[in-house]
Amino acid sequence: MSKNYKIETKCIQSGWHPGKGEPRVLPIYQSTTFKYDTSDQMGKLFDLEDSGYFYTRLQNPTNDTVAEKITELEGGVAGMLTSSGQAANYYAVFNICESGDHIVSASTIYGGTFNLYGTTMKKMGIDCTFVDPDLSYEELEKAFRPNTKCVFAETISNPSLVVLDIEKFARLAHEHDVPLIIDNTFATPINCRPFEWGADIVTHSTTKYMDGHAMCVGGAIIDSGNFDWEAHAEKFPGLTQPDESYHGVVYTKKFGKGAYITKATTQLMRDLGSIQSPQNAFLLNVGLETLHLRVPRHCENALKVAQYLENNDRVKWVNYAGLPSNKYYELAKKYMPNGTCGVISFGLKGGRDEAKAFMDQLKLAAIVTHVADARTCVLHPASHTHRQLSEEELIEAGVQPDLIRFSVGIENAQDIIADLEQALSNI
Ligand SMILES: *Cc1c(COP(=O)(O)O)cnc(C)c1O
Repeated sequence: MSKNYKIETKCIQSGWHPGKGEPRVLPIYQSTTFKYDTSDQMGKLFDLEDSGYFYTRLQNPTNDTVAEKITELEGGVAGMLTSSGQAANYYAVFNICESGDHIVSASTIYGGTFNLYGTTMKKMGIDCTFVDPDLSYEELEKAFRPNTKCVFAETISNPSLVVLDIEKFARLAHEHDVPLIIDNTFATPINCRPFEWGADIVTHSTTKYMDGHAMCVGGAIIDSGNFDWEAHAEKFPGLTQPDESYHGVVYTKKFGKGAYITKATTQLMRDLGSIQSPQNAFLLNVGLETLHLRVPRHCENALKVAQYLENNDRVKWVNYAGLPSNKYYELAKKYMPNGTCGVISFGLKGGRDEAKAFMDQLKLAAIVTHVADARTCVLHPASHTHRQLSEEELIEAGVQPDLIRFSVGIENAQDIIADLEQALSNI
């Protein structure tokens, strides 16, 4: 029923639906295990013959309730929480790839994901071709190989703030018989729901706006249920062939639209174990209850800050898709008519050294390795998050060496601008 509610109502009401005499607020099921009356009941769970909770590494009611809320916010059919955004992006791909396979990813993605796909998963035998997402359809097609299994990109990239042409990428993926996976962390389902534009799977670092208060690291994977695995059965044997580790179950046959998430839960979570703690899921749910209030405020403040920076003499460039001067303004209007996100990037005329001096002068905006929470914060990716990347890789990832990532919080915009003003004049 709650599937028909507007997104604001879903933020509050989706997920937990207590019955008579049950707690109004989602309980934290702080239990590793769950009780059964007979040995056979338990046995059926292990055979995937029956559904039910038995061990929190596989499933936990608090986590599942929060995953259900995010699934409804995105308009998907099934979802799961993970311990982090990194785990979400790892599982989302690894669920349909194995050694010898290949993926295509936008080069403009979060530094951690760039390392995951470019270095760590390469060691596991999965090759990744990074592509500039602004290339033409014809250029992008050249990245595909017969063993390509998916396409990956971010709605708005962190920290380069490239707005993805989701329809172009969806067509690209589908014409090559593979799903499009979108990391929707920065836009959140409040501003963009990638399934409505053809994406098949969405991931999140819930650590950012969804939690919104910088309290817990977490991730989520949501499936639209739209990709037809059986139509390309030979490409996705993990979903369409018997899983011997579950007595020959065929996920697509047994679970239909739930196949992808069921496999990721029963296989990857079982074996790799990157679960979110129920405590964190509870806090995430509290964050989600105000997501629809916070995100518009982040965007409103960010636009004011971007306009201020654009008019400041010490500022060399400002990147924010909400500015009419921005390269991605039109794309952002199409995919995110209500605003993009609260993160801005800019460079100072004095370059990398001035960036550091400026950051040290900020008082309200704190230097932290974080973005997208209620408090304004700042980071210099070339010195911090993207430190492992070479100058060349930095440019490929859309990160200029002088780029300052400024995450605008939900304080009063005048106070944020006053802080910038004093820092810029005191460099
Ligand atoms: C932070 C982030 C991640 C990684 O998430 P963690 O929760 O830190 O593991 C992945 N993608 C994007 C876009 C991010 O901003």
